[in-house]
Amino acid sequence: MIDTKYIVVGSGIFGSVIAERIATILNEFVVVVEKRPNIGGNCYSAIDEQTGIECHRFGSHIFHTSNEKVWQYINQFSSFNDYRHKVLTISNGQVYFMPINLKTLCDVAHKSMSPSEAKQILEPNRKELDIAHNLEEKAIALIGEELYRKFIRGYTLKQWNKDPKELPPEIISRLPVRTNFNTDYFNDLYQGVPVNGYFNMFKKLLANHKIKVLLNTDFSSIRSQIASDTKVIYTGMIDEYFDFCLGALEWRTLNFEWETVPVQDYQGTTVVNYADEDVPYTRIHEFKHYHPERKDPYELEQTVICKEYSGEWSLGKEAYYPVNTIRNQKLLSQYQKMALKYPNLIFGGRLGSYCYWDMDKAILAALDCFESKVLEK
Ligand code: UDP
Repeated sequence: MIDTKYIVVGSGIFGSVIAERIATILNEFVVVVEKRPNIGGNCYSAIDEQTGIECHRFGSHIFHTSNEKVWQYINQFSSFNDYRHKVLTISNGQVYFMPINLKTLCDVAHKSMSPSEAKQILEPNRKELDIAHNLEEKAIALIGEELYRKFIRGYTLKQWNKDPKELPPEIISRLPVRTNFNTDYFNDLYQGVPVNGYFNMFKKLLANHKIKVLLNTDFSSIRSQIASDTKVIYTGMIDEYFDFCLGALEWRTLNFEWETVPVQDYQGTTVVNYADEDVPYTRIHEFKHYHPERKDPYELEQTVICKEYSGEWSLGKEAYYPVNTIRNQKLLSQYQKMALKYPNLIFGGRLGSYCYWDMDKAILAALDCFESKVLEK
């Protein structure tokens, strides 16, 4: 038997934050079970041995939040550099700023424009906003048909492999639309990348001596050794926990094609999106640009890039994005109903909650979950 009151399955953001809270606030021992050889879940980053460049192994992760509580909390474990995310997108051989802002609108129109002229262009579609039921309708209501076809439709088809009419409107609400020259990707007050990398941030989160991390350990291998009164906080896939007995929830996975290129600078920025459907990848990441303050790797005549391809998830692949269709939402609530029968079992994180969360939302959810479901009992 594993003799502990608390077991956390998964050492991504949700799991690590909740383990930290249990150890610090409750002063209790907690075992964190991680099937991978490293902590950090999909935020994991590592220094590339050949170039010294820190690479986000599961795609670019930029910390951004406007939530004071989350920002204060995470700053106990890492400080952040002043990186602000700016993304470019290539459509039909031309490069534009994304999300759509006044510069994008001017570039598409091949002329300069004032904010009020830009508003006039966007305005006529906006009356459709309240009746937009899917991603396509919402995007057209926000930016019009031409810009939707130029920047959204092809990228979305590649990313989700679904007609944008079948996808929920919330996905596109992640992107702001601006009629000024603010070219930031995010609106959030606080933004940056951990000064010493995500890996060190997670090491600090899990540094309390009351936390024991078991790496390379699949939950299924210890499941039978868990006492019935142990509280299990499970951040893996909820359907997998129940052996997919009602069917599998759909996910999108990502495949990364890594390359070390013998140039100082490959694309001039961290992320370039590829809007056209006939380019097979969705974006290219170039990691040295997250840390211009790290002079040696930054100035090196080598750079690490990776091309990101979206694909269908199947067992054995990493799950990244929940596919929020009506079918999947119904299935999720059936699994959640099933989970209610187990008072010592809590599901959380992107996988356990089947939520398209950014890192700050996962932290907030973990802090709330600790206060409402762990602390109270
Ligand atoms: N999107 C798009 N074109 C872009 C960027 C995003 O059509 O250049 C759409 C696409 O549907 C995507 C959604 O906006 O799934 C949300 O994008 P975000 O960058 O937030 O996705 P993430 O960074 O989480 O992969």
